[in-house]
Amino acid sequence: MNRSRVALVRCENYDPDAIYQAAVKGLDLIGGISNLVRSGERIVLKPNVLYGTNPEKGISTHPAVFRAVGKILQESGARVSYGDSPSFAGAEGHLRRCGLKQVADEMGIELADFDKGRTVSHKDGLLIKSFVLANGVLDSDGVVNLPKLKTHPLTRLTGAVKNQFGCIPGLLKSQYHVKLPDPYDFATMLVDLNTLVRPRFCVMDGIVAMEGNGPRSGRLRKLDVLLFSTDPVALDATACRIINLDPEIATTSKPGEKAGLGTYHSENIELVGEGLESFFCRDFDVIRTPQEHCTQNRIMAFVKNRVCERPVIAKAKCTGCGMCVKMCPVDPKAVDWRKGDREKPPVHDYDRCIRCYCCQESCPEGAISARGTVLGRTFFRH
Ligand code: SF4
Ligand code: SF4
Repeated sequence: MNRSRVALVRCENYDPDAIYQAAVKGLDLIGGISNLVRSGERIVLKPNVLYGTNPEKGISTHPAVFRAVGKILQESGARVSYGDSPSFAGAEGHLRRCGLKQVADEMGIELADFDKGRTVSHKDGLLIKSFVLANGVLDSDGVVNLPKLKTHPLTRLTGAVKNQFGCIPGLLKSQYHVKLPDPYDFATMLVDLNTLVRPRFCVMDGIVAMEGNGPRSGRLRKLDVLLFSTDPVALDATACRIINLDPEIATTSKPGEKAGLGTYHSENIELVGEGLESFFCRDFDVIRTPQEHCTQNRIMAFVKNRVCERPVIAKAKCTGCGMCVKMCPVDPKAVDWRKGDREKPPVHDYDRCIRCYCCQESCPEGAISARGTVLGRTFFRH
């Protein structure tokens, strides 16, 4: 059996020349750009743009990484476009605020349509048999995935597999949380999306990663690494190993292997470039416990609600902006103003909450974090 190759290349800052050299090296190590992309192909770059803000905050893929990979693709003769579909409306404004649009305009990289899409069947999907995909994805010959290494309370790691979620346009994404409240079903949907839109290759920005309350409000952690692979599962598993997280804890690993998308087993991954141990970060702050399955059994659901992590609002940080209420996808809302009183922070209804963490992800103040319960910590966690 062929092993999946993952390249690790050291890069200690976002200096454009240094990143370009690192990207050339990394892509050579996984087979060379001429074997990954053919001249004349239409390639769409898919960075991670959760929402638009200064790239130094570490929320989005850094523009210098985007620039380096875009340049290599252009030099190979590819026709390059780019796009993403952040959770919030108005993709172009978000892309500008995180510095990607300026780089793209300067390089003649066109903005692809990620606002609207078309339905595509996926009969081989493990769980999802059709998706609405962004026109920009469907009109391309291949996607190059540029994830950012960050934590996420739902999937534990947000990496290459989860980054493809932005290939689904706009607000359609939130419906998947409602339809698939079980975190492993949600992960299987992400894997199905990846087997439908298998990235041509992935370059993960782990130069400055995000730990703790990611993917938006965590702390920055320098890891000084760029990761390269054509296998998104192996790439994420390697990122997990760097941050001292068992890859099985990342919810996409097992369905990713089951679907044939890739492998997370170390014996099936060939690491090339600098050794993993030189990037290893033992104390990276990430949730290291497995996700809990969702259950329809009312007694089990009652127990789960009192045991597993939940989104909690730090009242002192809350400005009452209401973004969490707006973004909560369940109806009726699982976070809302108590009796309409907007003088106080919104309140969660944990019996209604499906733990999708859209509220945590959307809070501009970082006031919401995933917290274990006292019961869970006392009886079920190590
Ligand atoms: S999004 Fe954050 S700051 Fe805004 S109301 Fe919700 S908890 Fe408060
Ligand atoms: S309250 Fe938060 S975690 Fe719960 S369903 Fe709403 S958005 Fe998701």
